Amino acid sequence: MSLFDSPLFKDAFDQLERAAGTMGLDPNIAERLKYPKRALTVSVPIRLDDGTVKTFMGYRVQHNMTIGPGKGGIRFHPKVDLSETAALAMLMTFKCALVGLPLGGAKGGISVDPNELSRQELQALTRRYATEINMIVGPSIDIPAPDIGTDGQTMAWFMDTYSQLKGYTVPGVVTGKPISVGGSLGRAESTGKGVAYCINFAAKKLGMEINSKTAVAIHGFGKVGVPAAEDLAAQGARIVAISDVSGAIYKESGLDIKECVDWVKDRRFLKDYDAPGVEHITNEQLLTCPCDVLIPAAIDGVITEENAGEVKAKIVAEGANGPCSRGAIDILTENGSFIIPDILCNAGGVIVSYFEWVQGLQNFFWDLDQINGKLHDILKDAFENVYECSKTYNVDMKRAAMIGALRRLERAMRLRGLFPA
Ligand code: NAD
Repeated sequence: MSLFDSPLFKDAFDQLERAAGTMGLDPNIAERLKYPKRALTVSVPIRLDDGTVKTFMGYRVQHNMTIGPGKGGIRFHPKVDLSETAALAMLMTFKCALVGLPLGGAKGGISVDPNELSRQELQALTRRYATEINMIVGPSIDIPAPDIGTDGQTMAWFMDTYSQLKGYTVPGVVTGKPISVGGSLGRAESTGKGVAYCINFAAKKLGMEINSKTAVAIHGFGKVGVPAAEDLAAQGARIVAISDVSGAIYKESGLDIKECVDWVKDRRFLKDYDAPGVEHITNEQLLTCPCDVLIPAAIDGVITEENAGEVKAKIVAEGANGPCSRGAIDILTENGSFIIPDILCNAGGVIVSYFEWVQGLQNFFWDLDQINGKLHDILKDAFENVYECSKTYNVDMKRAAMIGALRRLERAMRLRGLFPA
């Protein structure tokens, strides 16, 4: 597969072209933004617990670093490839620009099913990957973070490996670290919390209240889905459906989210979860179940032209990156759903990652109220800007968000110019 072949890359490319056409973006700027600045492919051989050696393919792509160092997660998932990673890096460029962070876009990953590896094998995989890409990452170059299949422990191993190679401790090389090794309060739940904030902003625009009448379905019960569920449940919303890679569960009167979280902590997967009134459904059924708010928070490309017409939600909050295809967005918009685009909806994670990076550089740590307050204010401003832009250009929120990001990138790229001139 070439760099440009994955559905996600084609989608990101298409979003860029459409927004560029609407706003009249300088074609020379658009041309540069279609390509990643740098892409590294590495092999990651590790010794498995049974003594055999297995090699996995890994990637790190830096899309654009005009505004600052690259920023973006590391994904461990069987579907990871160069093209998907490049598309995700491109989305990170737009996300950081949209919410006004002094950061560029990057992404990395390994094509692996982390559920099939032991803790020791995962540690070996992370450390070898960190070694293979260490020459293009660093606190002033490119700062990874967790994504699908990775977590605070992965970041601690990554930071330790990078620090061993340097000979001194470099906490600023990654964000999403555990608190005891320089992590930030509020980072773990920041993406889900940001999703919940954005749903509240959208509900206000639609004259909706988030309360016990609000039914919410969440596709993907991981680092994004869980805190979003907890936040919305705390506001009184009924979380009627959740899912993971093993399947989905549904209860019209609302699931007991605390119990579901405890279950997943103990037993990993939802497939055997059992409680009175709980029905087991498929991931596909969850996406079209009766609900007011749908949060696709697992993987990309789950809402397509095939199922978009069946989606019932008034608000579709893109917790994941690229969960709705371009064709699906058109259908959802036509059917009256309000879409909160990924580069806005899930930006809470990179915003608090930025706070973690800044706190690490200053060696001065903030309290949780400060962090959540700043997160709320940045997302509120960004939401209002995107909403205004959607009215000004008479376009959906997805295209409006892209226009907002491109405006900032265009200004910065013009000022820096092209080297050599
Ligand atoms: P995670 O690994 O913590 O959770 C992913 C969830 O999706 C799990 O419940 C997993 O079982 C489920 N899942 C995986 N494959 C699936 C499939 N084929 N069908 C249905 N469910 C599946 O990952 P995460 O960090 O919560 O990331 C989820 C999405 O949010 C990704 O698109 C990621 O890029 C995006 N995102 C994450 C962050 C972050 O801070 N973690 C920030 C921004 C965006």
